[in-house]
Amino acid sequence: MLPKPHQHTWMDADIEAFRDPVRRYIANEMTPHNDAWREQGHVPREVWQGFGEMGFLLPEIGEEYGGAGAPLSYQLVALEELTRAGLPPSTAVHSIASHYILDYGSDEQKRKWLPKLASGELFAAIAMTEPGCGSDLKVLRTRARREGDEYVINGSKTFITNGYSGNLVVLAVRTSDEGAKGISLIVVETDNLKGFAVNKLKKIGLHSSDTCELFFDSVRVPAANLLGPVEGNGFAQLMSQLSYERMLLAVPAVAVMERALELATDYAKERQMFGQRLFDLQNTRFKLAECATITHVARTFVNDCTQRLLDGKLDPQAAYMAKLWCSDMQCKITDELLQLFGGYGYMDEYPIARFFVDSRVQKIYGGANEVMKDLIARQL
Ligand SMILES: Cc1cc2nc3c(=O)[nH]c(=O)nc-3n(C[C@H](O)[C@H](O)[C@H](O)COP(=O)(O)OP(=O)(O)OC[C@H]3O[C@@H](n4cnc5c(N)ncnc54)[C@H](O)[C@@H]3O)c2cc1C
Repeated sequence: MLPKPHQHTWMDADIEAFRDPVRRYIANEMTPHNDAWREQGHVPREVWQGFGEMGFLLPEIGEEYGGAGAPLSYQLVALEELTRAGLPPSTAVHSIASHYILDYGSDEQKRKWLPKLASGELFAAIAMTEPGCGSDLKVLRTRARREGDEYVINGSKTFITNGYSGNLVVLAVRTSDEGAKGISLIVVETDNLKGFAVNKLKKIGLHSSDTCELFFDSVRVPAANLLGPVEGNGFAQLMSQLSYERMLLAVPAVAVMERALELATDYAKERQMFGQRLFDLQNTRFKLAECATITHVARTFVNDCTQRLLDGKLDPQAAYMAKLWCSDMQCKITDELLQLFGGYGYMDEYPIARFFVDSRVQKIYGGANEVMKDLIARQL
């Protein structure tokens, strides 16, 4: 067992009372189907709708928009439970996209979309990355041209989570040629949308999460779907949410480390070799002790960052550090612990094998870890 982390004020009885039904729902309604979802490459939208109907999708959205008005920590706890169970972190992307509408939408836009996003009738993607730009978003090329009271959109996006299972995209587009100042965010509802096409990509891990190319061929959306009062605010809007978005990566990293450690410790105590338990070999105890120490430090750091986030005091630099270090440690620890399983650790049916491959992308998406280092160094 790991040492008990320091109790921050956000870690109260209410949040544990929320965690319990989330964990039960996942165990009963989701985990039994995960193999089939991995096979087909996505979790069906109806399943996320079920998650929404239970109040687990956007608990942090105000009651006037269909949420529970809970702190952001509730979203983080639901995400922890999904990732501990080896399910994809799709709700993190749904939450990010919804927060753009919450923070930059007009009251009319919020009333139109947020209740459906909270219930799961709408499931959201955020589409920034293009074949020619990922880390350097300022050069994105997908274009939205204003024609009367509509935008006409042409271009393509790639690596978009929830692109297939979702039906609403917060789309980063170019509305003028002025570099970062020419970027805007437009909401696109994709059910039966003319000129819109999706291609699901094959990945080395996160098999039940759909990662997609999106194609826009003269797609028309109402001009009223622009987020914010005027064009050109998209880049600033994207940059303003970063602390919360980094925590949506750091928190599941720690949840995976904790679960992987539990699995490896149990296994080492059962597996017999050379007339003793695997756990009794000094190397095993040292490895588990090292991984437990890192996991405890990561948990302590992430809990502290969560408290700061809730207090509105999370320094962006600390959020970059949390994303960078927790994802690095997630990859290191899942690799070290897999080793203890020997050949079984390489078998897809073992959760440790899935944690190992699923972890790798954490160092790439949400801002590559090299970008995090660059951002941290700029403030030194
Ligand atoms: C499974 C998955 C899901 C994703 N989901 C989404 C999504 O929902 N929405 C979305 O918009 N995007 C999504 N992405 C895209 C992701 O955010 C990008 O892949 C990421 O930002 C990196 O961009 P890139 O792939 O174009 O790599 P590039 O920008 O070409 O970078 C390649 C490499 O260059 C190095 N590098 C980059 N910048 C620097 C720097 N400043 N200093 C030093 N080295 C640097 C890094 O090693 C980096 O890995 C997803 C990607 C994956 C794999």
